[in-house]
Amino acid sequence: YSGKSANQLLGEHVRNLYVKDYKSLPIVVKEETSVYDAICTMFLEDVGSLYVIKKEGQLSGVISRKDLLQAAMGKQDLSAVPVGVIMTRMPNIVMCRPEDTLYHAALSMMRHQVDSLPVVRPFPDRPDDFEVIGRISKTTIVKAFVELGQHIKV
Ligand code: ADP
Repeated sequence: YSGKSANQLLGEHVRNLYVKDYKSLPIVVKEETSVYDAICTMFLEDVGSLYVIKKEGQLSGVISRKDLLQAAMGKQDLSAVPVGVIMTRMPNIVMCRPEDTLYHAALSMMRHQVDSLPVVRPFPDRPDDFEVIGRISKTTIVKAFVELGQHIKV
């Protein structure tokens, strides 16, 4: 018997979950994609945020539901406005790595008050550019939480 309390065991369990095992597929669009097409993509893919990439594939921004709503409140033609002009852009994007713990990603989302984080890795030849390889959202955290509840016997 290890002498560890249920609390310690629960804490260890929680911090043993890794982003790489929970990430879902990221939905990406190009900077030139119109706000109109981004709205369609968000509905079709059933996600709350889209990641915007540059031509060479590196992460350039994030588009959330509220960003699109805000753009839709204006009088512009939504098919003429590229997402590149309304997105939240680098270097202000909060990201996570596959080797981060899920707990760390959750803490990051809470601190920065965002609903999702792109999972990234730097390009080998360009350490300041990031390739988007996944997505962690609040839904991911809810799923992991439910899983924990099912597996931990008190
Ligand atoms: P919603 O717009 O549905 O409330 P969020 O809370 O995720 O969704 O987004 C709030 C704002 O934060 C938006 O302007 C969005 O562009 C931005 N945002 C979303 N995710 C991130 C992130 N990972 N890093 C930086 N900014 C983000």
